[in-house]
Amino acid sequence: MTRDPLVAYFSMEIGLEAGMPTYAGGLGVLAGDTIRSAADLDIPMVAVSLLHRRGYFFQHLDAAGNQTEEPVSWAVEDYAEALEARACVEVEGRTVHLRAWRHLVRGISGSAVPVYFLDADLPQNTAEDRRLTDVLYGGDAYYRLCQEVILGIGGIRMLASLGYRDLYRYHLNEGHAALLVLGLLEQRMAEGSQPQMSCKAALEAVREHCVFTTHTPVPAGHDQFPADLARRVLGERFWALLAACWDNASLNMTELALRCARYINGVAMKHGEVSRGLFPGYPIHSITNGVHAATWAAPPFQRLYDRHLPDWRRDFLSLRYAVGIPTDELWQAHQEAKRALLDTVNRVTNAGMNCDALTVGFARRATAYKRFLLLFHDLDRLVGIVKQTGPLQIIFAGKAHPRDHEGKAIIWRVHEVKERLRDIVAITYLPNYDMQTARLLCAGSDVWLNTPVPPLEASGTSGMKAAVNGLPSLSVLDGWWIEGHVEGVTGWAIGERIDICEQPEPGLDACHAEALYDALEHRVLPCFYQEQERYRDMMRHVIALNGSFFNTHRMVAQYLHMAYQAVGRYLDQNNRAGESTSHES
Ligand SMILES: *Cc1c(COP(=O)(O)O)cnc(C)c1O
Repeated sequence: MTRDPLVAYFSMEIGLEAGMPTYAGGLGVLAGDTIRSAADLDIPMVAVSLLHRRGYFFQHLDAAGNQTEEPVSWAVEDYAEALEARACVEVEGRTVHLRAWRHLVRGISGSAVPVYFLDADLPQNTAEDRRLTDVLYGGDAYYRLCQEVILGIGGIRMLASLGYRDLYRYHLNEGHAALLVLGLLEQRMAEGSQPQMSCKAALEAVREHCVFTTHTPVPAGHDQFPADLARRVLGERFWALLAACWDNASLNMTELALRCARYINGVAMKHGEVSRGLFPGYPIHSITNGVHAATWAAPPFQRLYDRHLPDWRRDFLSLRYAVGIPTDELWQAHQEAKRALLDTVNRVTNAGMNCDALTVGFARRATAYKRFLLLFHDLDRLVGIVKQTGPLQIIFAGKAHPRDHEGKAIIWRVHEVKERLRDIVAITYLPNYDMQTARLLCAGSDVWLNTPVPPLEASGTSGMKAAVNGLPSLSVLDGWWIEGHVEGVTGWAIGERIDICEQPEPGLDACHAEALYDALEHRVLPCFYQEQERYRDMMRHVIALNGSFFNTHRMVAQYLHMAYQAVGRYLDQNNRAGESTSHES
C-alpha cells in the first residue's frame, strides 16, 4: 500500500492533547479523533492547522461564577518539532513569512500522521504579523481573515514546500479552510500550458480533489467577510481570481467551500437534511461524527475491554460484543471512573460529592443554544423530584467565548442556582473545561445530559464519549442522538422529535423542561435507585449499540469510501506496484 499522502486534512483547530491548547471545542476534538483513527487505520494523511501560541484561553471562575480569561502558556517545543521549511502569504500587500512545527500522531500499528502547525512568529515579520497565529478565534474580522489566509493559502504553500503536491484529496473541516482553494488554483494555473488557462477550467480540476464537511446549522455561524475587507487583505490578484469564478459581493467561506468541493457532508443524518435546506442546490450527504474510542475510554474501561474484547483498539466494532461482559465487572469499572471524577471535582471545587448519589454530567461550550439552564427552569419542581425519588448531584463545565456575554451570564446563573439549592441538590462547576476534564466527566458521571435547542446541535460528540464508557444519555432528540437513542436501552429522550424550525417557538423551553423533569422523575431516578440491575444492563447496551458505531474508525472508513473514494486508488496502485514487480522479476 502506498505511503504517499492521500489526504490533506485542514482544520482551524485540532485537539491532540490536553497540554496543547490548539482547540476550542467539538470541532477541534473531532479533528484530533479523526487524525488518531487515520493513524490507527494506516491511512496516509497529513494535517494542517495554526500553532495558536496563546491558545484558546485559560478559564478562571470566581466564587460568583464570573469568567475571566488568560492566554494559555505552553511550551511548544515539548509537543512539536520546528522544521526548516518556510512559506509565505501576502496579507494587505505585506509578505508574512511562515514556518511549520510538526507533531506526529502515532497509530497502534506504528504508522503516523504528521500534523503541521503554521507559525507566523518569525523575526522577518512585523510585530503585528508575528501575532497572527497566536489566538484561536480571537481578534476581529480582520484578524480572523488573516488567519484564514494563512491556514488556506499558507497551508497549501507550506505543503508544497514540504514536498506534498497534488494530493488526492483536500479535506476542509469547516469553512475556515476554504481559501485553500485559491492556493490550489494558483498552483494549477501556474502549471497550465496557456497562462490564461481559464479560471473555470482550473476550478473544475481543483473541485475534483476537495471534500467539505460543514458543521454549523446556524446561518450566523458561517464565516463571512465584507468585500472591501476581503479585497484589501487578499490583494488584487487573488481577488480577481475569486471574481472570475464568483461574484464579488462578499466572501462567504461556506459558499466558497460548497462551490469548490466535489463531496459535501453534514455531520449527522439530521444535520445533512438541515444543511440541504440551508443550501439548496448542493448535493449534501451525511457522515455521522464519531469519537476515538481508545482515547475516550477511561483507564478502567480500557482494561475491561482489553480483557474481554482483545481486538477492540484496532477494531472498535468489536465493542458490539460488550453485551457479553458481566455486569458486575462493568459496574466495578464504572465505580472506579466515578471515583476518579469525584476525587477531582471535590479536590478542585470542594463540592463534597459522594459516590452513591446519581451524578449528572453536563459539559460543553457555554453558549445559549446548549441551554445549560433548562434543568433549572422550575426549581421547585426539581427540588420536589429530588426529595421524593433520591439525591442528585450535577457537575457542569464549559467555557464561554470571551465575547459571548450571554454565555458568561449562563455560567454566572449556574453559580447562583448552586447557592440557592445548597444542601438540597449538590451542584458544581468545574473550571477550565478541556479534553482532560472531558475524559473524567464523560466516564465518571452516571447520566450524560444534553439539552440543545433543536436543530442547532449539528452532531454533538460528548454523548458519544460517554457511550464509550457505558453512560446512558438523557437528551433532547437532536444531532447524533436521533440515531443513537433507543428508549430505556441506550438512555432516555427528552420530549418528542421536534421538526426543523427556523425559530424555536416561545414555548419550547417550558415544554422541554417539563419533559426533562418527567424523564428524571419517572424513568431516570427510579431506574438508578430501584432497578440497579436494569441500569447496569443499559450500560452494556450503550457500549454495544453506540460505542461500537459512533466512533471515528467507522467515520473515517465512511470518508474513505464515500468522500475520498480512495479504495479504487489503492487497488490501482497495488496493481501497478504488482505489475512493476513482475516486470522486474
Ligand atoms: C468533546 C468535547 C466537546 C464537544 O462536546 P459537544 O457535546 O459536541 O458539545 C467540547 N469541548 C471539549 C473539551 C470536548 O472534549
